[in-house]
Amino acid sequence: MGKILSTLFALIFAAGSVYFLLFQLKVVGPTVCEKTLQYSLGNFDTRFGLTREEFIVYLEQAEKVWETPLNKNLFELEGGAKFTVNLIFDERQRQTIEEKKFRYELENIEGRIQEVSLERQTLLSGYQSAVSEYGILEKDFRTKLTTYNSEVDGWNEKGGAPKGVYEELTDKQRRLSEDAAFLDEKRIELNKLVLEVNRLGMQGSILAKRHNENAVTYTSVFGSPRQFNQGDYDGKSISIYQFDAPEHLVLVLAHELGHALELRHLSNTESVMYYLMDAQDLENVRLTEEDLAALRQKCRL
Ligand SMILES: [Zn+2]
Repeated sequence: MGKILSTLFALIFAAGSVYFLLFQLKVVGPTVCEKTLQYSLGNFDTRFGLTREEFIVYLEQAEKVWETPLNKNLFELEGGAKFTVNLIFDERQRQTIEEKKFRYELENIEGRIQEVSLERQTLLSGYQSAVSEYGILEKDFRTKLTTYNSEVDGWNEKGGAPKGVYEELTDKQRRLSEDAAFLDEKRIELNKLVLEVNRLGMQGSILAKRHNENAVTYTSVFGSPRQFNQGDYDGKSISIYQFDAPEHLVLVLAHELGHALELRHLSNTESVMYYLMDAQDLENVRLTEEDLAALRQKCRL
């Protein structure tokens, strides 16, 4: 490249008219806005999880990002066109998919921890009110038992109770036995409840431990920021290598189409032509003033 340039410069200085002619030729050439770049789909790797039809929809949206503001048909999908748009699967997308899977798992565990903790909390408050209810019943039972015992002691001291009182006391004794059996049942239920509360507590701890271990692994594997090309343009084709979500494809494609319009990177972080996916509106990809000004300059509009 450098060599050709120096030849050109030598010519320029040797003969001014050649320089003029070259200059003229350059000026009258059609601008990128006066042609329609026809492209076809080249490599299409299905591991991205997209169908060709879906990909074409994103491509059309990316075309419109540039075409709509100028009201020009700058790009056109045309079967057999030499210029190709490719979807190339490599380590970049593989890692993206793994990261997503891992993050999904982490979120899943977090969800389960919340469920278990909520369930435990509900059981625990049920247990607490059951315990205080049990306390009241038990206190009542003990009072009745004490009264019964002292009544029986009293009559025994007198050498025994008359028939009517005896029957009444026997009846009281039967009811007290029933109450005692009822309290026993309640106590067994409470113990079961305690076991369940503890089991949930244990389950929560195990999940939390797993979550923490996974979070450490996640940070060590995916935590440090990586920078890579999501796509590139080489003059003959556009290749797409990575996107987090299909909707992000519009920006990646629009950016590479921008390069195909001979545009360079811009410094506004919201610009389609900013070198990174940064402050652009991914939901509604659109040109900034800077993008539009760069395009207008290329098109001499
Ligand atoms: Zn770029």
